[in-house]
Amino acid sequence: MEVGDDVYSSWFARMDLETIEDGAVRLSVPTRFLKSWIQSHYAERVLACWQAQEAKVTRVELIVRSAVLKSVVLSKAKPDLAVGESGGRYANGNGGRTLSVGDPSVHEALGGSPLDPRLTFDTFVVGRSNTLAHAAAKQVAAAKRGDPVMFNPLYIHSGVGLGKTHLLQAVTWAGNAAGERKVLYLTAEKFMYGFVSALRTQTALAFKEALRGIGALVIDDLQFLQGKSTQAEFCHTLNALIDAGRQVVIASDRPPSDLESLDDRVRSRLAGGLVVEMGPLGEELRFEILKARVMAARAHHPTFDVPLPVLGYIAKTVTHNGRDLEGALNRLLAHNKLTGHAVTLEMAEREVRDLIRPQEPKRVKIEDIQRVVARQYNVSRSDLLSSRRTANVVRPRQVAMYLAKTLTLRSLPEIGRRFGGRDHTTVLHAVRKIEGLVGNDMALAEEIEILKRQLQE
Ligand code: ADP
Ligand code: MG
Repeated sequence: MEVGDDVYSSWFARMDLETIEDGAVRLSVPTRFLKSWIQSHYAERVLACWQAQEAKVTRVELIVRSAVLKSVVLSKAKPDLAVGESGGRYANGNGGRTLSVGDPSVHEALGGSPLDPRLTFDTFVVGRSNTLAHAAAKQVAAAKRGDPVMFNPLYIHSGVGLGKTHLLQAVTWAGNAAGERKVLYLTAEKFMYGFVSALRTQTALAFKEALRGIGALVIDDLQFLQGKSTQAEFCHTLNALIDAGRQVVIASDRPPSDLESLDDRVRSRLAGGLVVEMGPLGEELRFEILKARVMAARAHHPTFDVPLPVLGYIAKTVTHNGRDLEGALNRLLAHNKLTGHAVTLEMAEREVRDLIRPQEPKRVKIEDIQRVVARQYNVSRSDLLSSRRTANVVRPRQVAMYLAKTLTLRSLPEIGRRFGGRDHTTVLHAVRKIEGLVGNDMALAEEIEILKRQLQE
């Protein structure tokens, strides 16, 4: 009652009483992580509770259950000291309860983010743009404790709504269901505010023990990781896990090289595993996803029927991402339920009009800009990044920086960094310079248009 349900079920629900001897209460928990957490946060409270009930108690000792088994076997402790059923449990060699890793409470106890039960491999549709990412994710999910780690970290990146979270949660569900090892899914935010702060209050030893309990760490939306000290913790965690042969899976909206807030060492560590990009969902894939979604919706709404030509129409026109596909279907479903009208092509056209995107803007990478600009002006990419200030390099460099600012979402400092470690004021100067010039210089304006088109096609 003092700590509330959440805290209680996270930390105390699996605590067992083992023995009471000479004023010493011996309690057991299933993991070292729980043990060290309770020791550092609740030891005094637990003792106070015992003393309130039983004044003779002077000491509370916490142990990890598998360790109990060992000591019982070794010393053949006097059975009459055992409390409750635990004596019998060890006597029949059962070794105490083990943590069920598929159990969501374990996931939460470790600070994991909530999982959506719909985001599994079963509901993930595989197509050209995500075959590799899917295969890698499957492989990671199926790996067993002690298997050699094939690629570490597995780093998946794509634009928004293309299935990263779906795939990461699928890995988590599948990995935990197999029961072989614990898979912990964290959004970068959770990592920053939950996991890291939990670890910070621990000793270095407790930190290592907490990590030892995790078979695979899955981090979603890494681009949101911010702050110097968080990064240090992230780096520390990443290194500790990878060095210990634990799998790390990461998703982000950009490749490692574009994670502006991370330092070079972390970036190269991230790039050192397998980096897979998921492309936009092709029309065929969109069609398959829609079909699967309709089938799923029919479990709850048996009368909901979407003729194939309507699905074809949505797959063709709603091109943006998985979330818009879901949105489009939800509207059809809502319309169908609320008005009782059957779903027709005309209705679909009316309902999804604002979700139609004529052309998907391509994600332009800074490397591509540098490559294309260098080719166009007949200089090398390293010229663009160099500190050379001759006119034949200065202009192309400014054009490239200008394009980087207008065609990507990268910040000025990030662009500066990617252009040989320049200051953001240099980038700003270049952007202003080119903006000023294209107003008057028709030839330059045209050159830039052509470059833009090359980059966006
Ligand atoms: P991201 O994390 O990349 O922004 P999500 O994983 O949240 O994208 O996907 C957005 C929506 O699209 C989710 O509802 C997801 O289930 C769906 N989706 C994306 N790709 C697929 C796929 N290949 N198969 C089935 N559903 C998908
Ligand atoms: Mg996501």
